[in-house]
This record gives sequence, structure tokens and C-alpha cells, in this order.
Amino acid sequence: MDDLKLVPLSALQHFAFCPRQCALIHNEQVWADNWHTAKGILLHKRVDSGDPESRKDVRFERAVQVCAEQLGVIGKLDLVEKNLFTGQLTPVEYKKGKNKPGNWDKVQLCAQALCLEEMTEQPIDVGYLWYWQTRRRESVEFSASLRLNTQHIIEEVRHLINSDLLPKPVYEKKCQACSLIDICNPQHVAKDNSADYIAALFAMNRDIE
Ligand code: SF4
Repeated sequence: MDDLKLVPLSALQHFAFCPRQCALIHNEQVWADNWHTAKGILLHKRVDSGDPESRKDVRFERAVQVCAEQLGVIGKLDLVEKNLFTGQLTPVEYKKGKNKPGNWDKVQLCAQALCLEEMTEQPIDVGYLWYWQTRRRESVEFSASLRLNTQHIIEEVRHLINSDLLPKPVYEKKCQACSLIDICNPQHVAKDNSADYIAALFAMNRDIE
């Protein structure tokens, strides 16, 4: 793990949306904002700006920095609740939309729990996802299969952000919501076979030599 880049928690979300977007942001340092990213930034600013506070038996800590070296993950958690009697920690992640099909939000939350477990040596069985659009808080149990799935995805992202790979674009409906669409240019790049052509020319030259 020593020579490898740590996986930012944000990279898991980018990878979930599109591996090419993840590589553009984390390998090529490309960024652009659109309406969706601006809304997300606004929400997280609002969440992060609250001071730590205690209500009843719970302490609320916001914008909590984590670094789990063994897991190889780094990042910032929106909110960690601490039960003042038991010391139990509970991560809470804020999402701007509503609950989506698939378990990507759960994977991101589970990665947060794994970080907290490594740093505090305390088991964390449950966390919450809070959806802005529906104003609902949903509990997520960190089952053995969710943990395994999360570790597997962290490995995939680690592999991608420690490589020079830039996955080819696949033009889909979601591209219209992607802030990098103008830079990625998926409709044209997907059709551009020049890289394959040049590689074939080199291979041909090698065969002739
Ligand atoms: S425009 Fe589409 S293919 Fe390109 S990075 Fe965004 S989601 Fe991925």
C-alpha cells in the first residue's frame, strides 16, 4: 500500500457514476462545474458549516477528516454522531437527490464506516443516508456482503487511480448530467479509432523489422 495513492472517498462516487469521469478527475486533474455539482457543493457547504453540538445524548461532529492507511482510503465525512453514553459512532452522509436504484450510496457510506472502524478500533454496524429531495433519513446496515462489495470496489478504484488508464467513453443518457461532457466529448471520442490505428501501425512496423 506504501507506494500507492490513497483512494479519496469522493472517487468512489465518481467511479460509480462513470469510471472515465473518475479517471479524468483523479488521474488527469480535470474538473468542471455544472448545475448538479454546484447544488452538491452548496449542500455540503451548508452541512459542513455547522459547529459541533450536543443534543440530548448525542454529539454531532461535522466535516470529519478520516485517513485509514490499511484500507488505503482518505476523505471527509459529512457528519459523525457520537452517543455520549456508549461512545458508539454513526456516520451520516447527505445526498442532494433521492434514493437511487443500486447500492452505490450504501457503498460510499460503508467505506466511511470502514475508515472509522480502522481509526477507532470500534465496530460500526449502522449508518444513515439523508436525502435532500425527500428529506428522508434511511438506515444502512453494514452487512458482511456490503463490506465485501465495498472493499472490492475500493480495490477497483485504487487500481484505476494508480494507473495511467483513461477508460473509453460510453455515451449514455447520464452524460447529459455530467459536468465533464464538453471535455470528455463522448459522442466523438467513442467513434475515434485513431489510437487503435496508431497502435496497429506500430505493431505492423515491429513485425516488418
Ligand atoms: S460525459 Fe459520459 S462518458 Fe464522459 S465522463 Fe461524463 S459520464 Fe463519463
